[in-house]
Amino acid sequence: MTATQFRTCPLCEATCGLSITMNGDRIQSVRGDDDDVFSHGFICPKGTAVKHLQEDPDRLRAPLIRDGETLREANWEEAFAAVERGLGAVIERGGKDAVALYAGNPSVHSLSATVMLPMLIRALGSKNFYSAASVDQIPKHVSCGLMFGDPLLIPVPDLDRTDYLLVLGANPWISNGSLATAPDFRGRLEAIGRRGGKVVVIDPRRTETATGADEHLFIKPGTDAFLVLALAHTLFDEGRVDLGDLEDHVTGLADIERIVEPFTPEAVAARTGIAPDDIRRIAREFSDAPSASIYDRVGVHQHTFGTLTSWASDVVNAITGNLDRAGGRMFPLAAHAQPDPEEPRGRGWSTGRFSSRVKGYPEAFGQLPVATLADEIEEPGDGQVRALVTIAGNPVLSTPNGRRVAAALSSLDFMVAVDPYVNETTRLADVILPPPPLLSRHHYDFAFYQLSIRNVANYSPPLQTFDGPDEWEILARLALVMSGGSAAADPHLVPAMGLQYLIDRAVRPGGPLEGHDPGAVATALEGREPVEQILDLRLRSGPYGDRFGDVPDGLSLAVLEANPHGVDLGPLTPRLPNALRTVSGKVELAPEMIAADIPRLLADLERPADDMVLIGRRQLRSNNSWMHNVPAMVRGSNRCTLVMNPADAARLALSEGAGARIVSRVGEVVAAVEVSDEMMPGVASLPHGWGHDLPGVRLSVAGANAGVSANDLTDDALIDPLSGNAALNALPVTITPAEISGNGHAPGSSSSGSPSKVVDASA
Ligand code: SF4
Repeated sequence: MTATQFRTCPLCEATCGLSITMNGDRIQSVRGDDDDVFSHGFICPKGTAVKHLQEDPDRLRAPLIRDGETLREANWEEAFAAVERGLGAVIERGGKDAVALYAGNPSVHSLSATVMLPMLIRALGSKNFYSAASVDQIPKHVSCGLMFGDPLLIPVPDLDRTDYLLVLGANPWISNGSLATAPDFRGRLEAIGRRGGKVVVIDPRRTETATGADEHLFIKPGTDAFLVLALAHTLFDEGRVDLGDLEDHVTGLADIERIVEPFTPEAVAARTGIAPDDIRRIAREFSDAPSASIYDRVGVHQHTFGTLTSWASDVVNAITGNLDRAGGRMFPLAAHAQPDPEEPRGRGWSTGRFSSRVKGYPEAFGQLPVATLADEIEEPGDGQVRALVTIAGNPVLSTPNGRRVAAALSSLDFMVAVDPYVNETTRLADVILPPPPLLSRHHYDFAFYQLSIRNVANYSPPLQTFDGPDEWEILARLALVMSGGSAAADPHLVPAMGLQYLIDRAVRPGGPLEGHDPGAVATALEGREPVEQILDLRLRSGPYGDRFGDVPDGLSLAVLEANPHGVDLGPLTPRLPNALRTVSGKVELAPEMIAADIPRLLADLERPADDMVLIGRRQLRSNNSWMHNVPAMVRGSNRCTLVMNPADAARLALSEGAGARIVSRVGEVVAAVEVSDEMMPGVASLPHGWGHDLPGVRLSVAGANAGVSANDLTDDALIDPLSGNAALNALPVTITPAEISGNGHAPGSSSSGSPSKVVDASA
């Protein structure tokens, strides 16, 4: 007996609709959902992998707890008791700052984790909160926080209406998009050309997206801020600045003109590798296009000028009249968001409310840079981190100087991981708590509908049951322990407090439910799981909500349940100035913190280029570190290769398939060489997320296709000082010939040392 169910793919930001055919309890097939209101049947190869991830024999079905050098299965009560003992002892000895929390990328794809994480952070009360955001997109949060007053008020390229898209540091044909939720990103880019528009890609590698674009220009890694400021310079120089409808809602234009003055196309040409004529031509094309947008992403955010590049990109969008207009960069309005106020609020936003203990890095977006986590663990003294909680995180492979991170984690007094696998990081834990598998979870994309190029909403109930606590319950029990309570207390207490807080906030004067009785609102939400109640409240009090009866056709969770292909809420519409939260109530083009960082950028303009620098690269069948245990995702030839230009290969005595030793300040690895003119001379590319052959890892497929970890090379001393983002790109390296083993890497080349808490893989 077969039945088909529809749900949103939880693997990446594109939020594609899946059509899953079940034969009884068995998943028979996974396809794209043709009727999904957003993805219209599109999925990428990873989408079908949800079946394997659900059924993967390596996925943990029960908690593990440490027993000497091994991890053994335990029941849930035993595991939570061990967590209570372990975390309790560390907090008693060192206080709350002695416990750090790290949230990995998949946590933002989980409804339970998105809802519960703020409560967990509050319960812990430690300043040591870290996440994958500080190896990824924090520069965009910081620049938007400073310009628009809210780090979550992020404009996205209006792909379906734009006439000109300038892509910096992004490869959405392969990544499927990031900070811009757009299923079938490739198809949407191709449509720009079909309607007479143009796509230009600027990248040190001729990526797949560049190959399909109208134009590609190489740029030296880490120099995009120079290019974008030279574009802005040209716009001022040629009298092309036009704020459009934002004319009365912008401050700082004169400051911008002063800031960009030294960044002439001639001044930046040598440093960027882009000719002055090309810079001027692109500035003219951008300003002449009926609508245009710069789409800047991870490649330009992961370096020491990440925030300046992000800011400069949105400055160019604004001064060409393309901010907040159709076809430019627009602000999504998610179904669960707060409705825009009647007036811009003006509370402002800043970083640096506290600093890291060892290096004094300022907090940004409520967190410290993960690049300094090892410092905080290793350096003795008051506030030293002695315990770590990870949620869906693999910092050993995903954060800079992975070997040092592994050694630091192995020295902790206690570590607990909420994770379905024994991976390169969780092998070092004392307790592993496995959440339900992906298809056994409630799903709604809190994070990505706020970044969507079209306003849509879709909810997926669990497809299969799971023998264990729901993820919200695991996190609630951790919150109870972190706040000094018992893991055995009723976990419902935690989300119930969160729900009450949200109800009280919604019914207060000026709130979306002003005038409603809080008790009646709570009663109306009853009968659902705690995270569903919070989602229902957010939807019903949101900008399209039913306001608990005030808007009869409005949105609620029940409406989403009745529409399994999603609800289309229409194209993006202008939201400024009301959505702004800056002190001035205007777009602040030249925030003080940004302007104060310009001398650092100017000084770098004269710096001699490094001989060879390393960049990362996206791969269609990878998703950071955790898709390599799916056989279909690793089938075929070795993909963890070092790609380099033929001229570099020749001068370094390297050839196709040969081994190359790559050495940075912090480490070295050996990888097989792939020679291709897709690389700019002087730049080599190694993908991240590989390096699975560490002792104790229980990933049978990934272990046989181990590769090497790019983050054994990346330098934890290199960060963007404004955001704390790790500078994973434009890494200076030396490359020399080396011997390589049959599986594509040198024997022992990827080992992250032998931490003392290595687990026995056979346990
Ligand atoms: S593009 Fe992303 S959301 Fe869509 S099927 Fe692939 S992994 Fe899933």
